[in-house]
Amino acid sequence: MPLEHDDKAIATRVIHGGQRHEPVTGAVMQPVFQTSTYAQSWPAKHTGYEYSRTQNPTREALERCMASLERGVKACAFGSGLAATAAVMQILPPGAKVVCGDDVYGGTYRQFTKVFAQRGYTFSFVDLTSEDVASLIPEDTDMVWLESPTNPLLKVADIAKVAQRAREVGALLAVDNTFATPYFQQPITLGADLVVHSITKYINGHSDVVGGMVVCATEELGERVAFIQNAVGGVNGPWDAFLTLRGLKTLAVRMERHQANARKIVQWLSEHPEVERIHYPMLESDPYHAVASKQMSGFGGMISFVLSGDLARAEKFVASTRLFTLAESLGGVESLLELPATMTHASVPADQRADLGIVDGLVRLSVGIEDADDLIADLQQAIDASRNAQG
Ligand SMILES: *Cc1c(COP(=O)(O)O)cnc(C)c1O
Repeated sequence: MPLEHDDKAIATRVIHGGQRHEPVTGAVMQPVFQTSTYAQSWPAKHTGYEYSRTQNPTREALERCMASLERGVKACAFGSGLAATAAVMQILPPGAKVVCGDDVYGGTYRQFTKVFAQRGYTFSFVDLTSEDVASLIPEDTDMVWLESPTNPLLKVADIAKVAQRAREVGALLAVDNTFATPYFQQPITLGADLVVHSITKYINGHSDVVGGMVVCATEELGERVAFIQNAVGGVNGPWDAFLTLRGLKTLAVRMERHQANARKIVQWLSEHPEVERIHYPMLESDPYHAVASKQMSGFGGMISFVLSGDLARAEKFVASTRLFTLAESLGGVESLLELPATMTHASVPADQRADLGIVDGLVRLSVGIEDADDLIADLQQAIDASRNAQG
């Protein structure tokens, strides 16, 4: 059965996609069904809801909205993005062979290499943005795991091309769509089988919930993921689901504003004499511009750039902003910044960081939805304040 309002544009679906009014009261917003269990009128005769690990109406409302946004048929919500990632790994057979992009989120890398690799899975980490994907995805691959755009260098893989190769060898393609969000990119329409999100980030958008989501392209995959969701049990709670659904309703207006602010900041950075390099796929001079514009309708507030000078200067810069908060995470209404070399990517060995292009002066911005001129003024005063820190 199609999800409600599937024929509507995405700015309508973020509010109405997969949604029904609550049947007893007509409540416009799905209430928080803060219950663990449901009364049965006769043994095994129930309303369709038996126990909240298995089904919960608040969680279901969020799942149905995400399925609608990503053009999937079923979605399952988890307690975190990494719990969602683990559920995708657990639908695979023991000893599965996984080909994974080489600069995935650090927590994903840790889970693959320190949890699943020890349980018989094999992982090969390759550059899926390269031209020759066929040689990187061998015949015996069970799953391809892709993040695009990547973190923090915003490299973009050609999702349709990777999907075609995955299909050729009979592998599933899972795409972590946390950075782009379905507002700008829908991997299932490009051939992906599963879409994974840290809904902690743009989907909720208010930096007050940790959660994850898996969206499935087919009923069969939906059943496999729902089985793991119930059998392993890392579910999203009703209160978190409620807050996330509330946040999700403004995704369209938030992403437009994130993008507008990011464009102004990118423009300003590109004229700044102390900025050596900018990574932003929607910039025409970006090496990934062509593939990004083919598969994405825009891009939000993630920018990374290289500030001239050494690590001491970069550290002083990120410690000197007043509106941008120095913090990990991303995708909230408030602007954040961080220094990958000593924060999110500190666990990556220095020589490997250098190979990937994560240099000491690389700064990552998660541009919020404040006034763009205020944000630019804040960056400028921090550049000024850090100038004499140069060693
Ligand atoms: C944050 C993040 C994750 C992990 O999600 P959690 O909700 O923190 O568990 C996975 N992928 C990407 C791209 C992320 O940014």
